[in-house]
Amino acid sequence: MQISQNTVVSLNYTMFNVDGEIIDKNHDPIVYLHGDYDNILPAVEAALTGKTVGERISVTLTPEQGFGDVDPSMVREEDISAFPPDIEVGMMFETRDPETEESQQFRVVAIDAGVVTVDGNHPLAGMTVRFDAEVLAIRAASDEEVVHGHVHGEHGHQH
Ligand code: ZN
Repeated sequence: MQISQNTVVSLNYTMFNVDGEIIDKNHDPIVYLHGDYDNILPAVEAALTGKTVGERISVTLTPEQGFGDVDPSMVREEDISAFPPDIEVGMMFETRDPETEESQQFRVVAIDAGVVTVDGNHPLAGMTVRFDAEVLAIRAASDEEVVHGHVHGEHGHQH
């Protein structure tokens, strides 16, 4: 079976920076519905089309194709009193915009003289990364999965 529209694909992946160092890899296999459902980066999805179990892909993603450019307006300084007392560099916080209901993740990148600098950019923003993956399994999606636009069951949506 080949990866095509409305197949459910399981992958192992590893991401590398431009120096060839590993920056991310999956723990459990990722499982996604193939076919332009916005479940996986489009450049990766395109490289996977037509592949079979055991085949590998290696895709180099520019920031545009991958995790976006760094947006300086996403870096903010806040008074330390707005944070819990055990705050440390590297901690993640989630905020919710009361108007749009959209949640946004921020990373603490610096703490200095009572001022906390938080960065809402994706940790990989601005980076060119290589995305290597191996196809572990392919199956036809159920009608319900196609209607919902995502995978059900193990590693998928539970509902
Ligand atoms: Zn569903």
